[in-house]
Amino acid sequence: MLGQIKGLHHVTSMARDAAENNAFFTRTLGLRRVKKTVNFDAPDVYHLYYGDEFGTPGSVITYFPFPHIARGKPGTGEVGTTAFSVPVGSLGFWEKRLGEQGVKGLERHEKFGEQRLFFRGPDADGIALVETADDSRPIWTGGGVPDDAAIRGFHSVAMRLQDAGSTAELLKLMGYEQIDQSGNIRRFAMAGGNGADVVDIETLPMTAPSREGAGSVHHVAFAVEDRAAQLEVRKALADTGYMVTPVIDRDYFFSIYFRTPGGVLFEVATNEPGFARDEAPEHLGEELRLPKQHEHLRSMLEAHLQPIGEQA
Ligand code: ZN
Repeated sequence: MLGQIKGLHHVTSMARDAAENNAFFTRTLGLRRVKKTVNFDAPDVYHLYYGDEFGTPGSVITYFPFPHIARGKPGTGEVGTTAFSVPVGSLGFWEKRLGEQGVKGLERHEKFGEQRLFFRGPDADGIALVETADDSRPIWTGGGVPDDAAIRGFHSVAMRLQDAGSTAELLKLMGYEQIDQSGNIRRFAMAGGNGADVVDIETLPMTAPSREGAGSVHHVAFAVEDRAAQLEVRKALADTGYMVTPVIDRDYFFSIYFRTPGGVLFEVATNEPGFARDEAPEHLGEELRLPKQHEHLRSMLEAHLQPIGEQA
């Protein structure tokens, strides 16, 4: 079992409308936009990052808004729900707030002894808030959500798989242990993680594979401290038979990617260098930042990219 992975790093999803996406995550959910940049491979498409005040690994949800893509079709082989941690007793506040803002699919329930509020993002994204005791991770209240309700980072991701077996083995290799089971859902958690320590696997053998589109999670990234730890994880995965990409510089972290047996794309990303690499911490996410290989496209991109407004 590896000891280098420290929980989730970020979750990256797809959207259709950049301005709507920005408004939902900054204004409705009260996260901070910590980076406004573009897709490395398609620089005419934004890459928007939302998280806590600093974009701490374990708090960051990121989006590629492709203006004309079709809505994704839910199914197996994907992350179905991305859950954020909120303080105990805050779901009443959230239910009222989200209801007033016209958020769809609101549903309160209990799972593994925790109170949850499930809802749909702008592209029917599966999102939940989970009441978690004693989560002291940093928050961002610049989005207008009071301290006693603000999101504390990720609680978990939940994958829907036709067959959980080999992905469960992979999670164990990565440092997770199964801590509970409820019906067809197995819960895995990591000791000594960054707070975003839970992964659920829901087994749905008869459900057809998903089709990726707006509202789908594109990949889930797990955190390692630095590049040395990342290389150790890469070697262990490759030795186990996974096809892992070389290390890729993503400007704010270094990444490796591999496809898991259940179909979900995993990334392992470093905590360094972080989002303050190219702008002051007090101004994160305000200006368009471009990867250096795309800097020469700045005037074209600034004219072409849809204005998305301020953070909130
Ligand atoms: Zn990523």
